[in-house]
Amino acid sequence: VNATFNGKYFDGETLQSRAVIVAVTAGRLSVTGVEPPVECSLSEIRASDRLGRVPRFLYLPERRTIETEENDAVDEMLAFQQRGRPAAFVHWLESRARVAAIATVTLVVSVAAIIYFGLPVLARRAAMAVPASIEKNAGEAALAAFNRYTQPSQLSHADRVRVERLLDFLALKQRLTYHPRVEFRSLGANVPNAFALPGGIIIMSDQLVRLAEDDEEIMAVLAHELGHVERRHGMQGVLRGSAALLVVSTVTGDLSTLTSFSGTIPFMLLQRGYSREFEAEADDYAIATLHTVGVDPRFFISILEKLEKARPVVGQDYSYLSTHPNTSDRIEKLRRARGGP
Ligand SMILES: [Zn+2]
Repeated sequence: VNATFNGKYFDGETLQSRAVIVAVTAGRLSVTGVEPPVECSLSEIRASDRLGRVPRFLYLPERRTIETEENDAVDEMLAFQQRGRPAAFVHWLESRARVAAIATVTLVVSVAAIIYFGLPVLARRAAMAVPASIEKNAGEAALAAFNRYTQPSQLSHADRVRVERLLDFLALKQRLTYHPRVEFRSLGANVPNAFALPGGIIIMSDQLVRLAEDDEEIMAVLAHELGHVERRHGMQGVLRGSAALLVVSTVTGDLSTLTSFSGTIPFMLLQRGYSREFEAEADDYAIATLHTVGVDPRFFISILEKLEKARPVVGQDYSYLSTHPNTSDRIEKLRRARGGP
């Protein structure tokens, strides 16, 4: 088989796609248009199911993904890949026939739904329906990718245990059905920040832990991050990125694309943070949580004020407030939640 087709290449770490040419020759697939060129054996590749004219995803090793509209070329490649594996091939044909039948109906419905409800609403529903095990995998993949941007924590054992206990306390009081865990990392010279990944992983920078003087301030930050976890903002962010991704993962139930793309979450968080709307939701969740555990929201205000002061004046800003803007609006809302000025 000698086939070439166009596609969009995702490296599994950033959100940028690159227009590439994919060539299939002698049992190998090569991608040109990226530096260095990518090459792998056909046996290492998996593809999403065919769904009418919805673009296909090719899953390469190391969470690298290719999106392409050239369905026929992909089918040809898969047929070649399956040659010599007759049983698997029959099974593949059967499953494809079944999927194709369901797809005709569901595709029309989902395209209509995207037009009618819009991407954010569907992304939310889909994110909420993602099974806990997949979310956990996505969180681990995101954490592995995060390590590229961070250094190991220098915090003392006592400091770590203190934060872990506070998180356990919040999880218990909120009766969470999963066990959230905190990962400590250093983000460089003086960068206080915290991030929430799918499945309940919260990353806290050493600098943020040191900045907080009271346990209540740490609880406020943790409660906000738990809000991101609870509302599945990481998965929603990934699903909002592409209509094709949303259709493929919801209609076929094939969640490989979701796990592949979760490696881009750290990039998304460091570059622009969650959307304003997600931040507002996480703040609401934090206010409710602090109320449940009997902590005055003034501690949330005081840590935000400290973060504002700690913001670097020059240079690359990866601090909490670069990813969590509008401090004054947020403080205003927290003051209202306290029932006073
Ligand atoms: Zn946030």
